[in-house]
Amino acid sequence: MDAYKETVDYVVKEVQTDRQMGLTDAQVKKRLKENGRNKFDEAKKDSLLKKFLHNLTDFTTMILLVAAAISFYTAIATDHGDYFEGILIIAIVVINSVLAIVQEGNAEKSLAALQDMNKQTCLVLREGKVEKIDAEEVVVGDILVLESGSMIVADARLTQTSQLRVEESALTGESEAVEKDAEFIGNEDENLGDQLNMIFKGCTVANGRGQAIVTATGMHTEMGKIASLLNDHTSQKTPLQKRLNSLGKRISLIALGAAALVFIIGQLQGEPMLEMFMTSVSLAVAAVPETLTVIVTLTLAFGVQKMAKKNAIIRQLPAVETLGTANVICSDKTGTLTQNKMRVRRVWTRGDEVIDTEDAMTDEAMEVLKMASLCTDVIVEKVDDEVIVKGNPTEAAIVRAVEENYHTKAELEEAYPRIAELPFDSSRKMMTTVHKMGKKYISVTKGAFDVLLPRFRFGDVDQAAIVNDRFGKKALRVIAVGYAIHEEEPKDIRSEVLEKDLRLLGLIGMIDPPRPESKGAIARAKRAGIKTVMITGDHVVTASAIAKELGILSNKNEALTGSQLHQMTDEELDAQVAHLSVYARVTPEDKIRIVKSWQRTGAVVAMTGDGVNDAPALKASDVGCAMGITGTDVAQGAADMVLTDDNFATIVDAVARGRAVYRNIRKAINFLLSCNISEIFIVLLAMLFGWGAPFTAVQLLFVNVVADGLPGFALGKEPAEKGIMDEAPIPRNEGVFARGLWQKIGINASVFTVITLFGFYLGSFVDSVSPWIDASHEVGQTVAFLILAYSSILHVFNVRSSQSIFKVKLESNKSLFEMAVLATVITTVIALLPFTQELFGLVQISLNHWILAISLSIVPIFVNEMIKFHQSPEEENDEI
Ligand code: ATP
Repeated sequence: MDAYKETVDYVVKEVQTDRQMGLTDAQVKKRLKENGRNKFDEAKKDSLLKKFLHNLTDFTTMILLVAAAISFYTAIATDHGDYFEGILIIAIVVINSVLAIVQEGNAEKSLAALQDMNKQTCLVLREGKVEKIDAEEVVVGDILVLESGSMIVADARLTQTSQLRVEESALTGESEAVEKDAEFIGNEDENLGDQLNMIFKGCTVANGRGQAIVTATGMHTEMGKIASLLNDHTSQKTPLQKRLNSLGKRISLIALGAAALVFIIGQLQGEPMLEMFMTSVSLAVAAVPETLTVIVTLTLAFGVQKMAKKNAIIRQLPAVETLGTANVICSDKTGTLTQNKMRVRRVWTRGDEVIDTEDAMTDEAMEVLKMASLCTDVIVEKVDDEVIVKGNPTEAAIVRAVEENYHTKAELEEAYPRIAELPFDSSRKMMTTVHKMGKKYISVTKGAFDVLLPRFRFGDVDQAAIVNDRFGKKALRVIAVGYAIHEEEPKDIRSEVLEKDLRLLGLIGMIDPPRPESKGAIARAKRAGIKTVMITGDHVVTASAIAKELGILSNKNEALTGSQLHQMTDEELDAQVAHLSVYARVTPEDKIRIVKSWQRTGAVVAMTGDGVNDAPALKASDVGCAMGITGTDVAQGAADMVLTDDNFATIVDAVARGRAVYRNIRKAINFLLSCNISEIFIVLLAMLFGWGAPFTAVQLLFVNVVADGLPGFALGKEPAEKGIMDEAPIPRNEGVFARGLWQKIGINASVFTVITLFGFYLGSFVDSVSPWIDASHEVGQTVAFLILAYSSILHVFNVRSSQSIFKVKLESNKSLFEMAVLATVITTVIALLPFTQELFGLVQISLNHWILAISLSIVPIFVNEMIKFHQSPEEENDEI
């Protein structure tokens, strides 16, 4: 069936549905079983083998494989039959790859699970009721209820349209929204873009309202037919991840250079060529930071999970990093800083009298509320005698006030049936409905007083202006109500025709209390060097009153209205933007100017949004935050982060978490690179001194994977330090090694080098260390191995906090402690058991050597404690 060529009745019959009631649950169940869920076939995931092979082509892994090949070659060439080394290198490569795949798989899974939390939903009519359901459960015959900002979840034939405009660029490439028309019937083959009575999956409602019967779901939709082209495989990497990947490569290259150098030195010193070959290989192996990228991914994934638990769902991974650098948060007022639980408090009709709705209600005041409630789209339900009003909170407040005073919206609608409407949107700031009133017609318009002002022709407008100001100072949102009587049925439903020459009926003042946590969150942001800016569609007086209460605004001059903003040039705005804290009566389109102006002054801006028109500003900002509850699908699609509780405080929490993630990555870098770099120095210096190779390749690999890898994985779980929100934001272009990280790594690498070489020397050449075991090259290697492994494991406790390790509680990151213990046990066991000794080229050493190794291993702790003592102390570790 080409639904666009058919009448609505025909389509209804064809897909067996009911326009008034929708499908029954039984029908839905049957259809879901027959036709499947409304989703695209998923792209085939890479098989484990493919992932594994892919991992082998990694630059660092390649170096290890070459090392294994050389080791095998040496074994064959020297004819000693020792293939263990080669086998072990390969085993470690395999273990490392599997570990990387599993850990990355886990990280991906947790990210995918988050996407599920942010599942697409839609409104459908079923069993006579409008329900919000999971978009995957939509079946052919369902009646979709469309409103501004909805994502269209299936192909459907429109049955009703009111100013409905649909953005179809995803399908047709046309970015201009198309005006739809349920009455249209195509008589020949039309392009998708010309099928004006149809809507298609993957497109969005830009404006207006409507209803439509689903004609195709899942792979049968127009989008489904091209879905295979859309399966996007590329995984997202954050800028930091990319930079660290290339850093890993660079270090590997340096290692290769150092390896070549060692080889040449050895040759000059007359060492046997094959042995030198293996030593160079071990050096190359040593410096490869095998676990760095996995640890960074894990740290990011862990941060993302933590944020999700605190109601912030990250949609774009790079946002985690950007959040840590944010220094301006531009927030909507209604619902984000306030509760969005509006209640009518005052009604003004004429003269000086203002009715307090909590005290007494007059007939005139009731008239204003009743008229306004006709001009609303909320749904009223009665559950156990309790009236529940669903929909736009401003409208819900009006209707609730009506229902609480013994009238109902239903009774009013019956008396004055609606025949047409001009919907509300944040740019127009008003709404009109047309009703039949006996033989005549009445149009009711409600909206912001100052916007409606020029459209009133009758009524006490001057007095209304005074009252409007008074209401605003009390932080009340004001809705003006006007009407016009028409003798004939209005046919031309346009703003220019209907929304003029109105008669002012009255003003409604409603309160929307701030969220209790907003004030604290704003103060916390301020301490953290982050400015909060309120952007609202509300009146400047109302907005300023609330902003003052919340601590956003301290001076009247910090507030600007939309019309003042329009008169300013970009240069003028840039000069003032840092001082402005409140933008009132702005449209979503203005938000983009504010974001760009801040960005021109060098700020990193987080911006909230919920409507369709907010999407460009959300995209332009550095961290776009969409509302999870009130946000439209379009806004959520454009955002980097979704706030599941619509709460401002959640953004501030997310910033703290972003900072913590960044710090943990720096800790991991300090931990891993200190070790890797020291390994290069140790081997290089030992060779220069003519002491022979201090480690074998397998020993170094073991240290990198077990002593570094295991505790390193747990570093990502390190809780945020308490003082993290008392510092200024991380500057936008600050490198990850800034603030002395290189110095720290340099000092630690030097200390590791000195102690390990010292141990190696004593073990290799000084017989008097132990009366029982003579010094030998193997004893030296065993001592060096133990020192490097133990000191690496202990180093994780140095890097975890800028405070003394004796002040940081071990329980605050249990898995770090457990991993460190595990790595210590494995290292010790390997050095003690004869079988593993042989495998790893270790030998039995005396108690004195053990004491020597352990004593030297704790030297770095003393050095780090001294450094920390001389630096200004920071706060303790603490959960946020
Ligand atoms: P914020 O930008 O802080 O979230 P908001 O989104 O609630 O505020 P808008 O919804 O753009 O702001 O509302 C702007 C103005 O439009 C309000 O101050 C009010 O006067 C008017 N208004 C709000 N809702 C309606 C409605 N449903 N019908 C008519 N006028 C409305």
